[in-house]
Amino acid sequence: MIWITQWLCPARHCSIALAWDDQETDARSIERRGEEIYKSGIANRYCGICKEKLHLEHGRTCFKTMEDATPHLLADQEGNKMARRILSRRN
Ligand SMILES: [Zn+2]
Repeated sequence: MIWITQWLCPARHCSIALAWDDQETDARSIERRGEEIYKSGIANRYCGICKEKLHLEHGRTCFKTMEDATPHLLADQEGNKMARRILSRRN
């Protein structure tokens, strides 16, 4: 199954989301990958919108393969990029 791990604030604004296949990796490995991203400085540990602290959630998607999930994940990614552009103009 395909899972998605998200680092979310209490209002559910998402800082990082990583999709993964449980046939190839596990939740602990994904949590470590998220820590690497934060340590690299690409993202910070507080919400960019409401400034609240983030928490971690693992959720199983309805997709059995990454091939099935990828078009949906890419569509979500494009929507999130658009939202980021709109919000960055407000600040
Ligand atoms: Zn937030």
